[in-house]
Amino acid sequence: MFSKILVANRGEIAIRVMRACRELGIKSVAVYSEADKNALFTRYADEAYEIGKPAPSQSYLRIDRILEVAEKAGAEAIHPGYGFLAENPRLGEECEKQGIKLIGPKGSVIEAMGDKITSKKLMKKAGVPVIPGTDQGVSDPDEAARIADSIGYPVIIKASAGGGGIGMRAVYEEDELIRAMESTQSVAASAFGDPTVYIEKYLERPRHIEFQVMADESGNVIHLADRECSIQRRHQKLIEEAPSPIMTPELRERMGSAAVKAAEYIGYENAGTVEFLYSNGDFYFLEMNTRIQVEHPITEVITGVDLVKEQIRVASGEELRFTQKDINIRGHAIECRINAENPLADFAPNPGKITGYRSPGGIGVRVDSGVYMNYEIPPFYDSMISKLIVWGMDRQEAINRMKRALSEYIILGVKTTIPFHKAIMRNEAFRRGELHTHFVDEYRRGID
Ligand code: ADP
Repeated sequence: MFSKILVANRGEIAIRVMRACRELGIKSVAVYSEADKNALFTRYADEAYEIGKPAPSQSYLRIDRILEVAEKAGAEAIHPGYGFLAENPRLGEECEKQGIKLIGPKGSVIEAMGDKITSKKLMKKAGVPVIPGTDQGVSDPDEAARIADSIGYPVIIKASAGGGGIGMRAVYEEDELIRAMESTQSVAASAFGDPTVYIEKYLERPRHIEFQVMADESGNVIHLADRECSIQRRHQKLIEEAPSPIMTPELRERMGSAAVKAAEYIGYENAGTVEFLYSNGDFYFLEMNTRIQVEHPITEVITGVDLVKEQIRVASGEELRFTQKDINIRGHAIECRINAENPLADFAPNPGKITGYRSPGGIGVRVDSGVYMNYEIPPFYDSMISKLIVWGMDRQEAINRMKRALSEYIILGVKTTIPFHKAIMRNEAFRRGELHTHFVDEYRRGID
């Protein structure tokens, strides 16, 4: 087992990883930007080193500086969290050169799954259902029109290198196709440095259902059930729950086996998520995230498995301590992402100083947060400042508990998504479990 781990991330996920280290008796090392001098994670770590200016390109994305610190501090492994370098295959390569273990899958797997066209092709070969569409880049307008016609409108133009909900556009009729292609190509080129786009069927009102997988380095792969993440704005998740309200043992068996098959086929190691879109009884591979995800706690809550500790154990060479039949789910969990955003102004970021803070507590409540009273939220990073997670014996209890916990949560000085979450917890369609990925848009149109 490692004796010291460097956490190449910030905020709540840095603390989450450090907590796992502490329970395992491992020392943790933080790296931080100038803007994060006073952040909680720098104090939680056993050692902390400043690595550069606030802009991520000058700090959290600087592989050279991070590895320098790892060397100096004597860290044997690096945990990348999510975002920043978590899906950058170069980090793994550079770590390997220095004899440092990266906690995650191999760089070649990260690279293959990071490209939507490549990953779709691989999944097709693995026998996992994919969304009907092209499995190569499309740039010729006539060809695009022919393809869209044969798939049938609506279609969606997606950047192969896309991520974070950026670089995709739904197209309802041929007239819009060329313009949509051009705009997606230019967004893709500027955001990801790769203008390649492809076309697939646009599923209307699908559900986003994903499976947590865990694999060791001896080839054992299991899944830890499902999460439903249909409550999104701008293709980004706001509320997640586990299990999905529509899940049955039969569907879980089918989707879970597809997720395991996907991971096995690519020689996956460590924690990962296979995302599916579900529509009218069918499910289709959407993408695989080759890292720990924001919403991992809801899976921990219903399975009792500490996913980050398992990640560390597996990376140190240990075999999985669970087989598929050891994984039992109990009750229902919900996570609300508390973002420093104004839900009434199209979720515009709202950084600033937290002038009052009291987090909720009591039975079944977990708060994973990186903030505290008088903390100044820097404007340079993600607006998510906290995750509120609850567990209940069943979905109804979880919803009522979330309502209660949200009413206890006090954050003053900045606008947050708390009022939005309260409204969703009261919403009848949500309470009935009638979810789909346009839920937030339709809901907002209803109250506008
Ligand atoms: P990213 O990598 O940017 O997160 P994803 O491919 O994971 O993009 O898709 C994110 C979200 O976009 C999905 O959860 C879904 O809401 C929507 N989406 C993506 N592809 C489709 C599709 N073919 N049909 C309908 N919605 C889609």
